[in-house]
Amino acid sequence: MTFKASIYLFLISTTFVALLYYFFGITIWWFAVPILLVKASIVYGSAYISSDFYMKAFCNAETTEKIIALTFDDGPNREFTPKVIKVLKEHSAPATFFVIGKNIAGNEDIIEQINSDKHILGNHTFTHSFFIDFKNSRGFKKEIEQTERAVKNITGKKMNFFRPPYGVTTPHLAKAVKELNYYTIGWDVRSLDTTNDSPEKIMKRIRKQIKPGSIILFHDTSDKTVEILKQTLNFAKENGFKIVSTERLLNLRTYEFQI
Ligand SMILES: [Zn+2]
Repeated sequence: MTFKASIYLFLISTTFVALLYYFFGITIWWFAVPILLVKASIVYGSAYISSDFYMKAFCNAETTEKIIALTFDDGPNREFTPKVIKVLKEHSAPATFFVIGKNIAGNEDIIEQINSDKHILGNHTFTHSFFIDFKNSRGFKKEIEQTERAVKNITGKKMNFFRPPYGVTTPHLAKAVKELNYYTIGWDVRSLDTTNDSPEKIMKRIRKQIKPGSIILFHDTSDKTVEILKQTLNFAKENGFKIVSTERLLNLRTYEFQI
């Protein structure tokens, strides 16, 4: 499912509902259906970030060395990010946090902590809006630059890593990311930690997908993820997987060179 297909799906289903509304007087709430369809297609499409359809995304490393990287999206979160940081510290494990710009105000200390603990900060847009994929490249650039500034004001560093919200890429986003000199970082292990699945089910999924060079996608937005993180770290230890930073795993520079 590509971005274009989502748009067509939206237009066709809206037209269809409009016709039914006009000729058969169905209730106006049916107009929610096209929106739900688009949402479903975006969720579906996000499973395919590794397809490189519009832009190159680094989703894992080609290696036989048993190294993996952990990534956390959608923070900083006042309640859960500090818990994640604490667990990482206990295991001396590095991670990458793809932060949403609008969550930073009031949580500057968390950004500082991530940075001083030598974790990596990545850009996950400013609003992470549900309709973000309808933006043009100027709109995307604004989103990315706003978050870039918010992090730079705290750490003094310009981020180089970007992760698209929902893993969805569009030609406009590709243009914005290229012009702003970001690397797009995807994943090849999707924990689906924001679903209602039990920690056991999620761990089963992670164990099945993990391989040398993997990048795991988590969200620092719940206690469940904190628990899954602990189990993942234990699993890695027991099976000889070393946790490394995304920078080391992908051999890419995390931040722009600072003089
Ligand atoms: Zn996200």
